Amino acid sequence: MGVLKRYGTYLPISEKTPKVNLEEGSTPLVRLDRIGDELGIELWAKLEGCNPSGSFKDRGMVLAVAKALEDGAKALVCASTGNTSASAAAYAAHVGVPCYVLLPSGKVALGKLAQALIYGARVIAVDGNFDRALELARQASEAKGLAMVNSVNPYRIISQKTGAWEICESLGRAPDLHVIPVGNAGNISAYWAGYKDFKSRGGIKDLPKMIGIQAEGAAPLATGKPCPNPETIATAIRIGNPVSAKTAISAVAESGGLFDTVTDDEILKAQKNLASRAGVFAEPASCATLAGLVKLAQAKKLPQGAKAVIVLTGNGLKDPDTAIAQAETPVKIGDTFEELLEALS
Ligand SMILES: *Cc1c(COP(=O)(O)O)cnc(C)c1O
Repeated sequence: MGVLKRYGTYLPISEKTPKVNLEEGSTPLVRLDRIGDELGIELWAKLEGCNPSGSFKDRGMVLAVAKALEDGAKALVCASTGNTSASAAAYAAHVGVPCYVLLPSGKVALGKLAQALIYGARVIAVDGNFDRALELARQASEAKGLAMVNSVNPYRIISQKTGAWEICESLGRAPDLHVIPVGNAGNISAYWAGYKDFKSRGGIKDLPKMIGIQAEGAAPLATGKPCPNPETIATAIRIGNPVSAKTAISAVAESGGLFDTVTDDEILKAQKNLASRAGVFAEPASCATLAGLVKLAQAKKLPQGAKAVIVLTGNGLKDPDTAIAQAETPVKIGDTFEELLEALS
């Protein structure tokens, strides 16, 4: 029913706030028994790729855009590794305001670029990485009075807490382990705040351990070292200087969780595993979560029987190039039944 409608009582909105709605949120929480049994855990996946623009960004964008309209904004701006721009562009189109998106040139997955363009955003390719694009977007926001809808916008994080609330409502409790990919670190901060909210409302007794997974080539939080030149196939988490680093670090510490890294190979393996053995196609950044659990299991650090939720943050169709590059090629035949029979054997 849309995040503002489902959770409006717990969000900072009033009668004056436009009730923006693309039916975001209320995404499926699916049990993955084939993979879970192998790891010795009860594994659940939150399919955030089922949101209207195909990623969790819609959960926060709906409130950020509603509040921007309430404050009289005439246009939106964001920097993006892809999904923020797709989401901002979709909501801007829905409510009828212009949207400027700054993308790191050549580093955005094909599906995400297609979305920003077809939704009608003004796309500006920056010859620099995401962190630089974000600085420029901030400057533009101040100089031109554009509403900034990156996760530096507090309404994004507030509204992303709804993901945690949905998980608690679905399971009737919090999971033991909440496993999530970490880029700019807004989402892990939002989920932790969301679980704590739900506990203080009396909805759950225990909080989960927060497990934040980064790509090895873009792991400032997992290594504790700055990362000036982030590099990974998982473009959505190709970020060297996370805006929400502080809150993410305290989420992990307070919950007794951990940060870990996975390699691009491990991410791709996990992507194939999720698709071919669970029927769930998620983009590479999302699959870092399963790769992280596999790594913990191999190190005998995964508590057996634990209830774990992985947040599959974005749809696999966002990045078809990466999927095709690692998949088997189709079998080619002529147009005869004999050739087909041979191909079937
Ligand atoms: C934005 C994004 C992330 C990273 O989320 P942060 O809040 O920046 O840590 C992970 N996966 C996908 C698919 C994303 O779009």
